[in-house]
Amino acid sequence: MPLMTTRPVTRRNAVFGITMAAATLARPSILRAQSTARVVVVGGGFGGAACARALKRAQDNLQIILIEPNAVFTSCPFSNEVIAGLREIEAQQFGYDKLAAEGVTVIGQAVTAIDPARRSVMTSDGVALPYDRLVLSPGIDFHFEALPGYDDAASEKMPHAWKAGAQTLLLRRQLEAMEDGGTVAIAVPANPSRCPPAPYERASLIAHYLKTRKPRSKVLVLDAKDSFSQQRLFEKAWKELYGDMIERIALSQGGRVTSVDAATKTIVTEFGNYTPDVANVIPPQRASRIAEIAGVTDATGWCPIDPVTFESKLVKNMHVIGDACLGGGIPKSASATSAQGKACAAAIVALLAGRAPEAPRLTGVCYNTVAPGYGFSLAGNYQPRGEIFAEVEGGATSPVDAPRELRAREAADAERWFQTITADTFG
Ligand SMILES: Cc1cc2nc3c(=O)[nH]c(=O)nc-3n(C[C@H](O)[C@H](O)[C@H](O)COP(=O)(O)OP(=O)(O)OC[C@H]3O[C@@H](n4cnc5c(N)ncnc54)[C@H](O)[C@@H]3O)c2cc1C
Repeated sequence: MPLMTTRPVTRRNAVFGITMAAATLARPSILRAQSTARVVVVGGGFGGAACARALKRAQDNLQIILIEPNAVFTSCPFSNEVIAGLREIEAQQFGYDKLAAEGVTVIGQAVTAIDPARRSVMTSDGVALPYDRLVLSPGIDFHFEALPGYDDAASEKMPHAWKAGAQTLLLRRQLEAMEDGGTVAIAVPANPSRCPPAPYERASLIAHYLKTRKPRSKVLVLDAKDSFSQQRLFEKAWKELYGDMIERIALSQGGRVTSVDAATKTIVTEFGNYTPDVANVIPPQRASRIAEIAGVTDATGWCPIDPVTFESKLVKNMHVIGDACLGGGIPKSASATSAQGKACAAAIVALLAGRAPEAPRLTGVCYNTVAPGYGFSLAGNYQPRGEIFAEVEGGATSPVDAPRELRAREAADAERWFQTITADTFG
């Protein structure tokens, strides 16, 4: 596909108050002639925005272009609170004005094609943008082929709510419309998947909603795993706070969902069929489609990387961070992703200067809130070990037998973590 174009920039391409910058972008030949290096970042979520900001702060004369189709980013962390009616969606939303004010050029388009030979990306309005280095942080897409019966149309009846926004609000409305005495089923996929503890946090907060509004109701967790992160902490909290309201059917009990029928709202598992009142189906996942188009995914559907530079093992000059990459022991979380964005920025600055990048040590912190005022956490450190990231010493998890004061403190810490990471990422 020919990527270079002189097609004039349209108004749609010139967004977020950067009309002049975008107009300049219509002439790639001019841009090639500039003296400073250009880094293009695809995806303005936790990884892409953190990386773009860190690149600009590290070296002001670099030209940093962030390409993201949505004018407003809606955060998944804390979206379970929105589903449970504890928070409004607006508290999850962040724009890109502050990044633009710091000198990052923000383009409101999706990237539709990438030409590694010409080092150029094409946006949905047909404009080609050359790059010296490309960073992909496009997050996840769903592996619909792995769950027969489930697709975008089915998600309108059986929402996944695994990308925050309209799906989050749809699941909340379905809960609100459910009669007391109903059943909410949550289908949990196997790993690797985005934020492995989040389905259990969701089960907890939905149980909190039901306990306070529809106490005869039930949460059924249909799980493709036998064990899960922070399991003892979750199960203790469930018993303490919700009695028998949450029932979990694990993999070895036949809990893995094998197909769904959206017309009858039926979930089929290895053990039997379920027709819950509300069906939250979280499908299996893989790296976002643009990663596959770029040629950086392998047979797993994820992107293998060099853990020191985050450069793709399959395509040169292209770096992949965040949920899309095969990170070894590092979790697919906003916290770890933001750390990857900054480390990747440091590696790119070194590579552009002809220096060898230093091996990063990354820290990820994961908070789970199981009820208002009741939280716990897990912190991990990760370093390159051979071809992947491995968890190294220094991690910590909340004790299982902690007093309620600690749970209350950790719930407050979770809220502070969210304010800090979103301010750090989006300004
Ligand atoms: C319910 C839930 C709760 C969670 N809670 C937590 C938590 O408490 N703590 C935590 O650390 N993590 C949490 N996570 C995980 C966290 O949301 C992800 O790990 C994080 O968002 C990954 O960042 P990313 O940059 O890889 O992807 P994203 O943040 O999803 O960003 C990807 C961006 O790329 C854009 N994009 C995609 N394709 C293209 C394209 N072709 N062109 C241009 N742009 C494109 C998308 O529009 C999107 O804005 C949670 C996740 C879920 C689902």
